[in-house]
Amino acid sequence: MANTMMTGECFCGGVKYRYSGKLMNARSCHCSRCRKAFSSAASAYAEIDQTRFEWLAGENLLTYYPSNKDWGKYFCRTCGSTLCGVYQGEVHGVTLGCLNGEPDVTLQMHIFVGSKAAWDELPRGEVRQFDSYPQPD
Ligand SMILES: [Zn+2]
Ligand SMILES: [Zn+2]
Repeated sequence: MANTMMTGECFCGGVKYRYSGKLMNARSCHCSRCRKAFSSAASAYAEIDQTRFEWLAGENLLTYYPSNKDWGKYFCRTCGSTLCGVYQGEVHGVTLGCLNGEPDVTLQMHIFVGSKAAWDELPRGEVRQFDSYPQPD
């Protein structure tokens, strides 16, 4: 497996990271909680291999918000960008919006489309859409 090196950073650039693994299960969640957490129509998020993830700068700017049992998010306390999902204290995935350049990833699914915002028009396309959590294939 060829690894691609990628970097990410928050809006103000104070927090930077590097990732050299694969981005997995890239998805966009339209549920009401993700809309708030990402200040957006939906989340855009992919899981990572945490052993290939490294903070480069600004770790002291990270603030942890516990969003659920065992789950939380890291955001930049200066600019407010949400950078990572955290599970049991470990980085679980990254927000696609904070990745730099053109990372090798495409959204594989839209989930919780059944509870999307009324103003959120999803294009009909090839990306799969689910009313809630996807059923296993
Ligand atoms: Zn920032
Ligand atoms: Zn959600």
